[in-house]
Amino acid sequence: MNKAEILIVNKVWPPYMDSLRANFVVHERTQLEDPQALAAVAPRIRAITATGESKLAAGLLEQLPALEMISVFGVGYDGVDVAAARARGITVSNTPDVLTDDVADLGMALLLSIARRIPQADQFVRAGRWPEGPMALARKVSGARLGIVGLGRIGSAIARRAEAFGMAIAYTTRTRVAGCAYPHYPNAEALAREVDFLMVITPGGAATRGLIDAKVLAALGPKGYLINVARGSVVDQPALLQAIANGGIAGAALDVFEDEPHVPAALCASENVVVTPHMASATWETRRAMAELALGNLQAHFSGRPLLTPVP
Ligand code: NDP
Repeated sequence: MNKAEILIVNKVWPPYMDSLRANFVVHERTQLEDPQALAAVAPRIRAITATGESKLAAGLLEQLPALEMISVFGVGYDGVDVAAARARGITVSNTPDVLTDDVADLGMALLLSIARRIPQADQFVRAGRWPEGPMALARKVSGARLGIVGLGRIGSAIARRAEAFGMAIAYTTRTRVAGCAYPHYPNAEALAREVDFLMVITPGGAATRGLIDAKVLAALGPKGYLINVARGSVVDQPALLQAIANGGIAGAALDVFEDEPHVPAALCASENVVVTPHMASATWETRRAMAELALGNLQAHFSGRPLLTPVP
């Protein structure tokens, strides 16, 4: 049987690329910059493989008349216009659940890092500053108040971890989670006012753009910390830069940014910020599980079976 032809829109994890090549005829968007080169293969492309960070331009979908499916390697699919795809009968899949533990682990690791100043302490020792005297004191985590913006799969996994630290947990979502005992707040600003740490873990996209704005940061206040493991777009980055610069909040720990992989120099220069390169799901174990699931979705589609994890 002929292998189906698929388009990879941005760089994917090499072992995943190997399994794609074993199952499909793979075209790489980066090698089709010339519009004629893309036009030559476009009529044969039946699926797109994207990552959580891919931004699929509407124009690209229009160029692919035979497109049947988009498989996203990641749980967040904010770079895909799902409504436009659906209108054309194109199905979309993602990789939920298999990365939940890793993202929750990194969320807690970032919270601990900014509160206990672990990267700063590491730098302090490496720079030979310890003999000059002790580091400044840090912020206690156990027993502190944690506000979670987005109590879905990952937000709930973060809450379970935070419970082990004796943290008092509260949350905000658009719809109250049925049967959940944590206090629910109607919006991020009201939640921020009541907590020491604000953890952001909603989807990205238009609906959450700038959700964490200057008002929310002001409510979090000079003793509050922001942790963002969701998407850069969810936080108003200029407002965050201002809050960091003028002590409007105590600090921020960020895995995601507005214009990745570019991180504002002011964030990198601040003693009160911890930054990581969008790596919340980046472990061997989870990347393997994500690759299996993303490939499984493609295989299910091309063998006429229901998708394993279609985007709802
Ligand atoms: P879920 O769909 O399970 O949870 C999303 C949660 O966000 C729900 O509780 C939802 O509740 C809430 N939410 C959505 N919109 C809003 C809003 N406007 N205000 C408040 N809450 C809102 O998703 P997951 O937990 O599996 O994943 C969440 C996100 O994490 C992904 O979409 C992705 O963006 C990000 N992520 C980041 C990674 C990284 O590498 N840093 C890796 C993996 C995921 P409700 O609908 O009731 O509002």
